[in-house]
Amino acid sequence: MNIRSAPRTLAVATTALLALGGVTACSDDGTTGADPQRVDVVAAFYPLQFLAERIGGDAVKVSNLVKPGAEPHDLELNPGQVGQVAEAELVVLLKGFQPALDEAVEQNAKERAFDVSTVQPLLDAAEGGHDHDHEGGKHAHPEESGKAEEPGHDEGGVKDPHLWLDPTRLATVGDKLAERLGRADPDRAADYTARAKALRVELEKLDAEFTAGLKTCQRREIVVSHTAFGYLTGRYQLEQIGITGLSPDNEPSPQRLAEVAQEAREHKATTIFFETLVSPKVAETIAAEVGAKTAVLDPLEGLSSGGGDYLSVMRTNLATLRTALSCS
Ligand SMILES: [Zn+2]
Ligand SMILES: [Zn+2]
Repeated sequence: MNIRSAPRTLAVATTALLALGGVTACSDDGTTGADPQRVDVVAAFYPLQFLAERIGGDAVKVSNLVKPGAEPHDLELNPGQVGQVAEAELVVLLKGFQPALDEAVEQNAKERAFDVSTVQPLLDAAEGGHDHDHEGGKHAHPEESGKAEEPGHDEGGVKDPHLWLDPTRLATVGDKLAERLGRADPDRAADYTARAKALRVELEKLDAEFTAGLKTCQRREIVVSHTAFGYLTGRYQLEQIGITGLSPDNEPSPQRLAEVAQEAREHKATTIFFETLVSPKVAETIAAEVGAKTAVLDPLEGLSSGGGDYLSVMRTNLATLRTALSCS
């Protein structure tokens, strides 16, 4: 109605928007502007989000590319997410885990990416698998079928990406992330270092709990749905028998199911583990066949609706393992 009031209304609205910037910029579609006060970090999946939030504190705004309840292997990116990657001040990813993200970073964020797989050499996928001699001869290795399908890449075999399941490795990644954040935001470099140090204390405490809790157990083999646990079993002297390979998407063959059932019997497994983000069907089939129970062993690729955080879910995993393996 009053023509002269229109510009003023607009000015007020704009001021309010700027003041609220930190809150309103959190939309999922990545279309709103960045908060100039905070470092805009895009994390590839949950454990990297956890690290970035803990180390960045209130100095960062972290968004996770994987929707809650979704499984991060072979993430697909929509155009909005590619835009998020292109606009981020820092993208935290694990190269080789999510090829679509690797490509988006290569094209749009090469200089603003922190690849956590470069912090320490990754384990070969084979080292995480179950590979030992029984009196009857050598077992088929769980990774063999998956490996055969990989075209002969030059990098010397398939690497296991699931490094976050070793808390000490995650702590080391955290230290490096603090350095990287400090380069992006030098004024607060000391804060990032201090928070990484504090997180390292917590992760080393968790590691000590795992070491003590899994020291004396009646069994050391775990039957899991996909071979995500190589770093955990390597650190705490367990053996994983994976139903599917490195990715949960692979459909196990009837032959593989029979082999795993046989393994489960030989090792007197009382529990077949399944994951929160993947159907429990296959684990239930094997459990029924060998007379075992099923339980959740969470590879922490994303948070389930049960909530918690990396530390609390890992402690639940420890309790689950201690029961399943009859640890004293
Ligand atoms: Zn996985
Ligand atoms: Zn065996």
